[in-house]
Amino acid sequence: MSQVKPSAIRELLRLGADPSIMSFGGGYPDASLFPLEQLEAVFRASIAGNGREALQYTVSNGSPKLREQIATRMARDGIACGADNVLILQGGQQGLDLVAKMLVDKGDVIVTENPTFLGALIAFNPCEPRYAAVRMDDDGMDMDDLERTLERSPGAKLIYTVPDFQNPTGVTLSLERRKKLVELANRFDLVVLEDTPYREIRYQGEPIPPIKSFDTEGRVIYLGSFSKILAPGLRLGWAVASEELIQQLGLLKLAADTQCSTLNMAAVSLFLEKYDIDAHIASIRQIYRHKKDLMLDTIRRTFPQDVAFTEPSGGLFTWLTFPEGFDTARFMADHALPEAKVAYVPGATFFPLEQEVNHARVSYSTQTDEVIVQGITALGKLLTARRNA
Ligand code: PMP
Repeated sequence: MSQVKPSAIRELLRLGADPSIMSFGGGYPDASLFPLEQLEAVFRASIAGNGREALQYTVSNGSPKLREQIATRMARDGIACGADNVLILQGGQQGLDLVAKMLVDKGDVIVTENPTFLGALIAFNPCEPRYAAVRMDDDGMDMDDLERTLERSPGAKLIYTVPDFQNPTGVTLSLERRKKLVELANRFDLVVLEDTPYREIRYQGEPIPPIKSFDTEGRVIYLGSFSKILAPGLRLGWAVASEELIQQLGLLKLAADTQCSTLNMAAVSLFLEKYDIDAHIASIRQIYRHKKDLMLDTIRRTFPQDVAFTEPSGGLFTWLTFPEGFDTARFMADHALPEAKVAYVPGATFFPLEQEVNHARVSYSTQTDEVIVQGITALGKLLTARRNA
């Protein structure tokens, strides 16, 4: 527990839950996009058709049929694998916990992007790792900086990356860098954890093959999730890895929670069989693309020129960078919340080592068009007025 700290972000998110506040803080998917009728149908059918099996314990690695279906989808995305390479997880988040438990002892180095997903740091921290944070630019993790970092960190255990539309920056790792990352992992003999829950929420351009598709030595662990493409309350995600690693992760999964909900796995498996999840994903992609365009257009129109923002090709977030010395947490508490009624996530908390205070993560996923325009415009006006004051 000495490593488990309540984060400042909690208090800010509590403020963001106030209905009078326009919050761009949370990273939730838009609940109006959950395919409710279809989910109702598959849950009903799972109980009516085969309820005794759907409510019984099952194998700890997860429903064999769902693992088979996931393996087929992964193969279509360039990852050759079978059901024995798949472990069903309680969301991708559980994969972060289990992988750290499997590989990391106190003091071992975990290499992350700088900044990185806060939920990963929270999952890794109880293992008491040391972190090494690698610089990023618009093409994701900088491979020269990664190489230098690995040279300086002999015995590092794990490289953690969110290669597609990263949380928090929205940035995507380029094709060349994905290949280079695998090359470096091979050379320095460590495991890569490729965490990609936003992969299928792509708005433009062709998908870049997963890092796992370049893995020749069985050292990449891929994490996927149904949270953003179906619904996060199902708590279903998956890992794809070598049979050896899946076996070890399966033992840790058994110890942690025995298995995922048999009923939820049966319902999702039936969903994949009966309905066209790709058509569903295509329709939610359109809606998020529209919200992203609206938010970025409003930022462009109303923000001062010295605020930079990323232009994500997918996912749910953009990342703002203010001039050096501007403290986004203080600005939110003193001005954005009380004066503009706007919340975002101050960026400092996403940095594993030296926290940079001049960034913010803003999400366009859950708010209506009206609130996006109204909230971002109010924030822009406030920033401009302060700039001119
Ligand atoms: N990884 C990243 C980068 C995320 O943004 C999230 C969700 N916010 C997760 C993992 C975990 O998602 P879940 O457990 O719902 O699959």
